[in-house]
Amino acid sequence: MSLLRRFWAWVWNLGASRDRVLDPAPAAKSYLRVIALAHIPELTMPKIGTVASGALQTDNLSTRETWRNYVGTQVAQPFEICRAESLDDLKNTVKRAAAMNCPVRAVGSGHSWSDAALTDGIVVETHQLDSVLELYPVTLKSPGDASSLIHVEAGITIQSLNAILDARGQALLNMGGFDGQTLAGVISTSTHGSGIGLGSFPSFVAALVVLAADGSVLQIEPTNGISDPGHFAEVYGTQRVLRQDDQLFNATIVAVGSAGIIYAAILRVTQKYWLSELRVLMPWSEIREKLDSGIVDEFRHVEVLINPYKIKGDNLCLLTTREMVPEPTGPVIPRPFRYVFGNFLSGLPGSSEVLTFLFNQFPRSTPDFLQSALQDLEDRNPYEDISYRIFNVGYANSLRAISAEFGIDFDLQIQAVEAILCSAEEFAAEGGYNSSPIALRWVAPSPGMVSMQPTPTCMIEMPMLADVFGSDAMLWRYENLLTRRFGARPHWGQQNFVSCSGDLLRKLYLQFDEWVSVVKTLDPGGVFSSRFTDRIGLTNHAPERVRRQ
Ligand SMILES: Cc1cc2nc3c(=O)[nH]c(=O)nc-3n(C[C@H](O)[C@H](O)[C@H](O)COP(=O)(O)OP(=O)(O)OC[C@H]3O[C@@H](n4cnc5c(N)ncnc54)[C@H](O)[C@@H]3O)c2cc1C
Repeated sequence: MSLLRRFWAWVWNLGASRDRVLDPAPAAKSYLRVIALAHIPELTMPKIGTVASGALQTDNLSTRETWRNYVGTQVAQPFEICRAESLDDLKNTVKRAAAMNCPVRAVGSGHSWSDAALTDGIVVETHQLDSVLELYPVTLKSPGDASSLIHVEAGITIQSLNAILDARGQALLNMGGFDGQTLAGVISTSTHGSGIGLGSFPSFVAALVVLAADGSVLQIEPTNGISDPGHFAEVYGTQRVLRQDDQLFNATIVAVGSAGIIYAAILRVTQKYWLSELRVLMPWSEIREKLDSGIVDEFRHVEVLINPYKIKGDNLCLLTTREMVPEPTGPVIPRPFRYVFGNFLSGLPGSSEVLTFLFNQFPRSTPDFLQSALQDLEDRNPYEDISYRIFNVGYANSLRAISAEFGIDFDLQIQAVEAILCSAEEFAAEGGYNSSPIALRWVAPSPGMVSMQPTPTCMIEMPMLADVFGSDAMLWRYENLLTRRFGARPHWGQQNFVSCSGDLLRKLYLQFDEWVSVVKTLDPGGVFSSRFTDRIGLTNHAPERVRRQ
């Protein structure tokens, strides 16, 4: 960095400083930051979870921080961003927030495209909460089960968790196509992978350790949970309160940050395993027949990518199937170019901009472009690798994208897909194009009153490059179509517009009212309220100006 840039960076940091010795007055702080910004504009783009200070203070209310999701499409101006390093940090923050009448919200990796993680109160950054915790077999009804469980702090990323499990000879039962999220993040939004016999992340949770609004630490399990209440109390004393209650478990497991701060979880895991993957091209008309004849029951994982645009009278699809196989005897050679637009292209700096330029400049070539992207992905030679490397779709996740995804009941899946394909053609006639194939994945019924997967579910995803013209508008139109005609349940972590008006949420999530009432008993004062909870009708709240203590 040049000397001049270093100087302006120093000025910027001084503006953010809370150092007792070198702490300028609030007005001077803002001024320093403004002049530093004028010289280094990228300072406006802080890293996800960038934190001004770990120390919790009450006299910094005249300036606000900026928090953005990873792609910069969701922005909030919280009073403060604090980094929690321990359960005590979480407790102090919640206590202080409640005393100041200031809402608080835990965030993970900021990889939600929705407003789920936004707060204008206090942001609690959780990446430092990433340790494996002691699991005391004596607290379990069946102490022998301890070997297939892991007790871990919930700010750990899926990537780090995979590495830890691998070293123990274990693995997650399933995961999505990305590993940058935190454990609490994937649980809270019911993040899923593919496989009709496998639920979303909440299905693997045996116990959730939650810091409630009143400061109590609850270990929440289903009524028939893993812990023995007597032994649990002997080990944890008053530090953790065991609550074994199906209603409470189902309300807190998928709560989108609104029922407390998840400190840790006890997860069910399995022995390390390998998968073999095949990718075959076929037209939608053939896929439709295979869906009718039950192909999703035939493999551990089934996924379909569809070109939304017909070429030669049909929509080209890529069918991906995966099965467990024994550990390969020879060396495993990773396969590049397994992802839409290729690992190579999506890994290059500026590739999002290049692709966006191409889609915006030559919109009518989109159908051909998507067709050849799918053709490049076909791979009829089995690719065998360790499970978590097969699941992860790699650099494609680093493209500047937005996405929406919907849970559809099994019996409506074909009609819903065909309605989307019809709409895609209509949008195309108006000049609006999906800049990526549509993805289908199947998920087993999963716990959670507001889960997107209450029954065997087909998840339909519409990823798009964020800056391609019309993407947002198309997602809004797809959501209207799918929610109103097919009762589709929007993915909480993906772009969604659904609100409490017109009773729609009650029709989509059948236990919505029950969820609201349980969450309200856990947080009667709205400590975890936010724009998101206002939007869905859980709260009616605007953050008040914080009172000085
Ligand atoms: C590139 C990419 C790929 C993706 N792939 C998939 C996929 O394959 N399948 C799928 O289903 N989804 C997928 N998603 C969606 C993603 O998994 C979810 O949005 C997930 O919630 C993001 O996790 P996060 O750690 O970034 O959490 P954030 O986005 O930071 O937060 C998500 C929610 O969790 C809450 N939260 C976070 N930490 C805590 C805590 N400690 N206590 C209480 N609440 C908390 C937040 O308040 C917020 O409401 C993908 C998203 C991206 C960007």
